Amino acid sequence: MTIRKLLPPNDTALMTEADTMGVPLLFMDQHISDLYETLYFNNALGLAAPQVGILQKLAVMDVDDTKLTLINPEIIEASEEMVESKEGCLSCPGIEVTLSRHKEITIKNYRKEGGEDTITLTGQAAITAQHEIDHLNGILITYRLSSLKKHRYKRQVKRWG
Ligand SMILES: [Zn+2]
Repeated sequence: MTIRKLLPPNDTALMTEADTMGVPLLFMDQHISDLYETLYFNNALGLAAPQVGILQKLAVMDVDDTKLTLINPEIIEASEEMVESKEGCLSCPGIEVTLSRHKEITIKNYRKEGGEDTITLTGQAAITAQHEIDHLNGILITYRLSSLKKHRYKRQVKRWG
């Protein structure tokens, strides 16, 4: 297992929709174990493959001691009820934003061995999954901010650059 290096916040790969994975895929086990290793090293709840430069629809999460590997995940149902969520992101260091997320979601997710599962998530697991699925679509938390806040954020990114 290898701890992967995070891409810098201004890397365009973070703003690009990742490729759908062919299943089963060569190196998938390696990528998954690297992602978990990197997740725990950074003490995060979730990590998407594009954050470490793997442009595939693959992410890992560990919320309340429940591990979930997301492979080509797709939200097929989302509650109308929304919750406020304070989120940070390893790809946007130093930034914390308050976003509105669905309280409950149902996803279609591929199994590593092949086949699909339908999984319903609530609470923090639902929020983390929405955050990671955003990554797979090239959406960072800062994209979900109002334009004024976005402007302030861009100035900050320039300072990092
Ligand atoms: Zn993130």
